[in-house]
Amino acid sequence: MPQPDRRSLLQGAAVAAAAALLPASVRAVAASSGETDCPQAAWKPASPSNYTAANRPSSHPVDLVVLHVTQATFGNTVGIFADAAKQVSAHYVVRSADGYIAQCLREKDIGWHAGNWDHNARSIGIEHEGWVDRPAYFTHIMYERSARLTADVCDRHGIPKDRAHIVGHHEVPGSDHTDPGSNWDWDRYIRLVNLV
Ligand SMILES: [Zn+2]
Repeated sequence: MPQPDRRSLLQGAAVAAAAALLPASVRAVAASSGETDCPQAAWKPASPSNYTAANRPSSHPVDLVVLHVTQATFGNTVGIFADAAKQVSAHYVVRSADGYIAQCLREKDIGWHAGNWDHNARSIGIEHEGWVDRPAYFTHIMYERSARLTADVCDRHGIPKDRAHIVGHHEVPGSDHTDPGSNWDWDRYIRLVNLV
């Protein structure tokens, strides 16, 4: 991961100082230079061909978080979302080794990750780097950073932090996907979401 240079650090400080003067409703956007919804995420945009531009929550209420496992590397996943031919996207991708988070489309827009329009329209999609049958990819730092991200998403959208509202791709009606799979520790994840 490249280190920020002094200039961008100074710009970041100026943005943060200005953001503190703004009402909470616009602070989240200002704090991230108008691109990411989560300050801890880096903007790695998906192709606009791979999601539905919307104005959630006024256009569609948001009441679910859908968790995924990529079955690909972090870099390949971000690349797939950026490729206009792929017709797929999720809002966030969390990297296994260090919990680094990419945001690929805005939370107001509708990702194409659940394989079900109703569930796409009402959810935020979070991908985790790894494979369902390779539990070593499910690192502590990835659980921790992802749980913090999900907690932030739930706080922003008023989503209860429970298993009825934080679901796996395999639980989406009509899904033929198995992710995040039997190696995903749901008890630990939900506990972390409620701790952070
Ligand atoms: Zn999935």
